[in-house]
Amino acid sequence: MHYYSLNNASVRADFREATLLGQAPDKGLYFPEFLPVLPEGFIGQLGSMSDAEIAYTVIRPYVGDAIPDAALLDIVEETVNFPIPLVRINENCFSLELFHGPTLAFKDIGARFMSRCLGHFVNSRQQKITVLVATSGDTGGAVADGFFGVEGVEVVILYPSGKVSSVQEQQLTTLGKNIRALEVAGTFDDCQQMVKTAFLDKELGGALTLTSANSINVARWLPQQFYYFFALKQWPHDSPPVISVPSGNFGNICAGLLAHLTGLPVRHFIAACNANEVVPEFMQSGTYVPRKALPTISNAMDVGDPSNFIRILELFGHRFIDLKNKLDSISVSDEQTRQTLLQVYRNYHYLLDPHGAVGYFALERHLENHPGDKGIVLETAHPVKFYDVVEPLIGSAVPVPDRISAILAHEKKSVKIPAAFSYLKDYLLSSL
Ligand SMILES: *Cc1c(COP(=O)(O)O)cnc(C)c1O
Repeated sequence: MHYYSLNNASVRADFREATLLGQAPDKGLYFPEFLPVLPEGFIGQLGSMSDAEIAYTVIRPYVGDAIPDAALLDIVEETVNFPIPLVRINENCFSLELFHGPTLAFKDIGARFMSRCLGHFVNSRQQKITVLVATSGDTGGAVADGFFGVEGVEVVILYPSGKVSSVQEQQLTTLGKNIRALEVAGTFDDCQQMVKTAFLDKELGGALTLTSANSINVARWLPQQFYYFFALKQWPHDSPPVISVPSGNFGNICAGLLAHLTGLPVRHFIAACNANEVVPEFMQSGTYVPRKALPTISNAMDVGDPSNFIRILELFGHRFIDLKNKLDSISVSDEQTRQTLLQVYRNYHYLLDPHGAVGYFALERHLENHPGDKGIVLETAHPVKFYDVVEPLIGSAVPVPDRISAILAHEKKSVKIPAAFSYLKDYLLSSL
């Protein structure tokens, strides 16, 4: 399998190169040169296969010759070694709980797969690499945990001081070993800008092998297909589900659409957005107008120019009508999100997080207009990660899972730096 750049189809890379580079040299996103076809009878056999077997079968064609079979099987086994249950909320709505991984958000799956692939490539190269990543919260934790202890990889995470939740900060700053946290006196945009500048800096490029771990990397994007198959494996009805995906950068739903186009039966997809409504507007008008992100209570989806949306257009050959036949998108306000969270908790005793609540609202709205359909919302994070929103609403404390209470007791270790590239550069050159 090769990948081409969405800026220029003649710029190509195999899976290894695409993973190491993240983005094509011409700044385009990598896209698979063909869509693999699932083995015959695969969907019918999901129920009798293990999660690792399913994941392996799905990802094998995308990896090509870049990783041998046995090593790839080890990688997927380590990636999906926690439960991903489909839980019934009520007669028509189910929740696919993607938060049982180490950092309580669905990003664990992509980050774990990517880190292990990079670990494999580094081993065979005998040369250290440095992963540089800016985070507004969830990405950093998932990347830190995914890369923790991976031989030959140093991870440097930049996060905006005082602007991530306390659970998120502990997840970034307490691991130690090959994980370093830089606490930047600035905003997420400052962090991202510093990282971007680092990739362009000749002196750094000469001294270190830098790579990024952001969500456009194919090794983070493609494994997100796995849980759509796990959802179908557990789906108790004959006709396929509608699937509602809380969306920000649109990597997750793009993976679901990819899985569908290679053969996974899904009746319809809903991209559930918060007040950042660039895509809901596009699906109405056909015009894409990016803008600055607005802050909301589902902050992992505060994205004003979703980078993966271009991949969705490519999947549908840029045919708007075909896309519209498979995808709806709606914008959900903070007020609707809060009400939904509370109502689902009261009526069905199921506690959503704010991102899942956005997804549930969109799903319920869709089912009202399509009687007879049933659906799944992807619950992308554990409610405890957003306890500051959830607890005042439901009027009680959210129980903290053991793996998080342990982290909360650990000592925070970060290096504080001003929001300017020169400080990042000095740090990287002097301490790595
Ligand atoms: C990152 C994230 C999202 C958005 O996923 P995208 O792939 O960027 O659309 C939704 N919910 C949570 C909890 C997240 O961390």
